[in-house]
Amino acid sequence: MRYFPLFADLAGAEVLVVGGGEAAARKVRLLRKASARVTVVAETVTEELGGLAERGAIAILPRTFLPRDLHGQRLVYAATGDGLLDSAISRAAKARGIPVNVIDAPALSTFITPAIVDRDPVMVAIGTEGAAPVLARQIKSLIETLLPANLGLLARRARDLRQIVARAVIDPRRRRRFWERLLSGPFRRAVLCGAQDEAGRILATELEGQRRPSQAAPTGRVTLIGCGPGDSDLLTLRAVQRLQEADVLVVDRLVDAKILEFARRDAERIFVGKAPRGPATSQAEINRRIVREAQAGKAVARLKGGDPFIFGRAAEEMTACQAADVPVEVVPGVTAAHACAARVGLPLTLRERIRQFAVVTGASADGQPDLDWPALLAKHAAFAIYMGIGNVPHLRRQLLAAGADAATPVVIVENGTRECERTVATTLADLTDAVAQHAIVSPAVIFVGLDWTEAGVCRPASVIVHRRGRRPAIELPLEKRAANAEARS
Ligand code: SAH
Repeated sequence: MRYFPLFADLAGAEVLVVGGGEAAARKVRLLRKASARVTVVAETVTEELGGLAERGAIAILPRTFLPRDLHGQRLVYAATGDGLLDSAISRAAKARGIPVNVIDAPALSTFITPAIVDRDPVMVAIGTEGAAPVLARQIKSLIETLLPANLGLLARRARDLRQIVARAVIDPRRRRRFWERLLSGPFRRAVLCGAQDEAGRILATELEGQRRPSQAAPTGRVTLIGCGPGDSDLLTLRAVQRLQEADVLVVDRLVDAKILEFARRDAERIFVGKAPRGPATSQAEINRRIVREAQAGKAVARLKGGDPFIFGRAAEEMTACQAADVPVEVVPGVTAAHACAARVGLPLTLRERIRQFAVVTGASADGQPDLDWPALLAKHAAFAIYMGIGNVPHLRRQLLAAGADAATPVVIVENGTRECERTVATTLADLTDAVAQHAIVSPAVIFVGLDWTEAGVCRPASVIVHRRGRRPAIELPLEKRAANAEARS
């Protein structure tokens, strides 16, 4: 982080703006909103600035800049349009330790002004460290559409209630829950649509609920959150909400660090990562931990890669919670196969061609998964192998032995949706070779029986095609696969 974000209190503070054009006027408008005392130094000024000076709202010094103008100033903006003069102002301000911003010249500035979404007192500031102001404006428009125009009303109402709520709900964690409910439920809706009486009634009921002793016991809970394959864009809105509510995060290895950014900064983070064949917190220990944290009254977010119900051991964690009477909820996530298929434009079912799609594990306790291979190779079937990279020679052998055509298309997506994503397209015959040659590592999904030509769509240019030696020019019909297998055995 090159620029540290902060909000400055400029009420009554002296701020100097050098320059009298439109860029200067924009800054003056903003500074006046913050009740700063603005002095403009410029030989000529826009009509708007002239008008403000006439009304006594700002002071204007109608001359060129002098270093003594900096005396007593809290901030300085330079918008003269004259590069040499701007540099001189920047140097003089830096020498006096006064924060300075030169419009459109980050190199000369010691601070920059973000794009803002203003719902006073709610203020969203967006910055790109000067890298892409247009991007900042795009984000601003997006947030403008997300936040109700009168959100400030809700924030002001919350401010007025702070003392009352602090007295009524003493325990800090319960108080935060109380606020979460108030600011997202019926109270919020009533305030935002102007029904102040109704909001008052809802508030009274909520506060009354806090006084009843039955509500006093801490109510912890566990949410098993599917966090998708990596890219945080693929989180569901519900996952984001639960992340924000969590007091404790219990995090799997496959969960991307970016996803943790959605949680509160003060939420405790417990990493229980399992690297393939590496050290790990045992499942029993994880079960005990999430139950213990919830029994202490905390909202526990159990973060899992992909979807919790697909090779996620969610059932064991749910059973542990239910056995201890801890409420448990599951938030679905985008599973690796779905995300990887979407990334490389590979439909998982196809009208007439692929009528069933399965997900299977390529791992097992002894490394030799006992799968019903002929069923997987049935007519109009395709499947995705999870956790298979460490076991590729065995998987290939089993498939061929079960009668799979050596030319069956195979697509491997490694680190799908992450920055280091790679895709290799090959055939079953060349699978082991492809994995070795391209040094493919976990996590990766291996799709069997799917390819782009079959779907009639284009293969993305980024896909690495791996072929070794000769291969059959045409795919064998299913009956022949079985005959082949027989011949081999
Ligand atoms: N619950 C997870 C799967 C956990 S098992 C889900 O629904 O996706 C771990 C396996 O998931 C890995 O071995 C790999 O096969 C697959 N996987 C997880 N993240 C992946 C990613 N970003 N790219 C490719 N495969 C991934």
